[in-house]
Amino acid sequence: ANDNDDIRRRIRTIPDFPKPGILFRDITTLLLDAEGLRLTIERMAEKVEGKIDLVAGIEARGFLFGAALAVKLGTGVLLIRKDGKLPGATIAEDYALEYGTDRIAIHADACAPGARVLLVDDLIATGGTARAAVRLLRKAGAEVTQAAFVVDLPELGGADALRGEGIAVNALVA
Ligand code: IMP
Repeated sequence: ANDNDDIRRRIRTIPDFPKPGILFRDITTLLLDAEGLRLTIERMAEKVEGKIDLVAGIEARGFLFGAALAVKLGTGVLLIRKDGKLPGATIAEDYALEYGTDRIAIHADACAPGARVLLVDDLIATGGTARAAVRLLRKAGAEVTQAAFVVDLPELGGADALRGEGIAVNALVA
């Protein structure tokens, strides 16, 4: 399973969610499977280069993979949340959606300046979310050079756009 086929076959595709015409990659079936989850975290960890101080997970599925990966790497986990959910002082970043904008936030004191942060989410599509997360972490003084995803949808160009911002992008399944 060099091509991660054992992970790919544990992810299902659901048509017309959340809207007609969208093929939604559903990783809940991967999470339900003990061996699938173990393999996913192991292979994500194998691709990490050098020393990482902190894993940053994007709400909500990025929290699951991010937290498990953090335990494996021996780091803490930083939550990148939808704006308005974090109780302390925050910094935020806006990003464009197909219609309108969205905003993500982190606690302003969540990471030390120069901290080497690995960004984690379940899936990268257009890259809008991940690029906003990188801008936000860099605004907080973090050094972000790597990002890990379970799934990349390469035809949407997000991984390449993220690489253009100086990020090494790793995904298990494309
Ligand atoms: P992007 O900003 O277009 O790259 O979209 C990525 C974000 O949307 C991630 O936080 C994903 O969790 C979510 N997302 C987009 N498409 C899918 C999908 O097919 N399955 C699961 N999550 C998705």
